Amino acid sequence: MLKIHDKFNKELPADSKTENSRRQVTNACFSFVTPKKTAKARLIHYSPEMLGELGLAEEDVKSNSFLNVFTGNEVLPNTKPYAMCYGGHQFGNWAGQLGDGRAINLGEVKHNNTNWALQLKGAGETPYSRTADGLAVLRSSIREYLCSEAMYHLGVPTTRALTLSLSGDRVLRDVMYDGNPDYEKGAIVCRVAPSFLRFGSYEIFAAREDIETLKTLVDYTIKHHYPYLGKPSKETYIEFLKEVGRKNLDMVMHWQRVGFVHGVMNTDNMSILGLTIDYGPYGWLEGYEHGWTPNITDSAHKRYRYGTQPQIVLWNHFKLVNALYPLINDVAPLEHMLKAFQDELGNAQLSMMKSKLGLFEVDENDSQLVQELETVLQGSQTDMTLFFRNLANLEKEGAVDHLSTIEEAFYNPNEIIDRLEEEWKNWFSKYQERLKKEPLGDAERKTAMNEINPKYVLRNYMAQLAIDAADRGDYEPIDEFYRLLKRPYDEQYENEKWFAKRPDWARDKVGCSMLSCSS
Ligand code: AMP
Ligand code: MG
Repeated sequence: MLKIHDKFNKELPADSKTENSRRQVTNACFSFVTPKKTAKARLIHYSPEMLGELGLAEEDVKSNSFLNVFTGNEVLPNTKPYAMCYGGHQFGNWAGQLGDGRAINLGEVKHNNTNWALQLKGAGETPYSRTADGLAVLRSSIREYLCSEAMYHLGVPTTRALTLSLSGDRVLRDVMYDGNPDYEKGAIVCRVAPSFLRFGSYEIFAAREDIETLKTLVDYTIKHHYPYLGKPSKETYIEFLKEVGRKNLDMVMHWQRVGFVHGVMNTDNMSILGLTIDYGPYGWLEGYEHGWTPNITDSAHKRYRYGTQPQIVLWNHFKLVNALYPLINDVAPLEHMLKAFQDELGNAQLSMMKSKLGLFEVDENDSQLVQELETVLQGSQTDMTLFFRNLANLEKEGAVDHLSTIEEAFYNPNEIIDRLEEEWKNWFSKYQERLKKEPLGDAERKTAMNEINPKYVLRNYMAQLAIDAADRGDYEPIDEFYRLLKRPYDEQYENEKWFAKRPDWARDKVGCSMLSCSS
């Protein structure tokens, strides 16, 4: 049995209207809603780890009630589901009220002294659905379900997922926004996090000059999620902003480390807890390219490309700082904080890249060594995951041909060796010299690097394989990838085939390298 422990919908102001019509909701943090009944729900997968975290047992999964609750067909006793109100900056511009257009919170659960909010994504309309239907398709639900759990096992702060279910309803979507809509299978993911509050949850009240609700929400957030910061005060609010900034900086450094590109880093998709949230048209770097984004909706400006993600976190954080300004009314400490974050960003980026190279000591030329590597990597169409994983095999003293250690990572090895052999050799000789200044021996360094550089990630084409199979009614690949990605840093000899470059067929395929926000 779930131990319900609701706080959000008990302590914060609710929308006074309860009918489910689309509207602007003011002076409230959420609206009560009831999930939509589905035609023929079916559970496709669940996360045993998440089940345990919530205090549920494998036995519970078999009950009808489990299926009904996590597909919105049954409301848990003593709960009142709700959709959250928030706004956001989308692609650099203030977009006004957004809110949970197709996410419905079931309630909060307490287990082992941890609080979890349970949320169904794709469970029907809410007052925030604007012009859309409140539903989600199987394709995007598989992507969110698999990726959020995979990120967790990679050690990246993230929201989690408990279940993936079919709704049994059909959902109309125009995948490429090119006037070719088609019906797809509807699905519902139950996702889980200590809180789904976003930067946009605060921005909406600042934009509406509703300082009272803004303060209520900030105080609530500190009380429950940052209790160690102490009682509300100007100083506490500044510390709160620092903590949120730090957490998000830490999160984005993990993204850069594993090669994850979020794709839609709007402020409504930035968690107040520094969790990766709202898995939409995300992607994984195949070729190491700072300019890559999976999101075709953003292909003109590439605002949310791999290389800009850390700066975008700071941009978003600046928007949050602005939103909380009315509670602080003092520019100097905030300017000081923002400046400190800029400096911290540079340091964090360097130490993250150094750790991927197995360099843990300080050396004044490290920044240049990293820069030179990035230049030659980007010129070489090099698979990021293969490169860093194989790099760990290099020997400090060895006189072997280093290129052969990492050659497998090149998408066009012959062409690269013809064109860039000198550059690569130069870099390797500097790297090898630098390694000699590290106390770790080859074997120890390899172990350390292999805990930082994953062997298995949810490559874009892998998610698409799982989706294509599921469309045919075969849900086995979802389970295969789920199990594979539980141990992303381990050698898994039976799964070596997933430690491979993107196959040619997937290079320009929709869903593999090009994704839209349609979901
Ligand atoms: P996203 O790009 O998924 O972060 O969504 C941006 C906004 O659009 C959020 O307010 C979502 O709740 C809303 N939204 C996205 N898809 C739908 C949908 N199918 N129905 C209703 N609202 C949606
Ligand atoms: Mg969103």
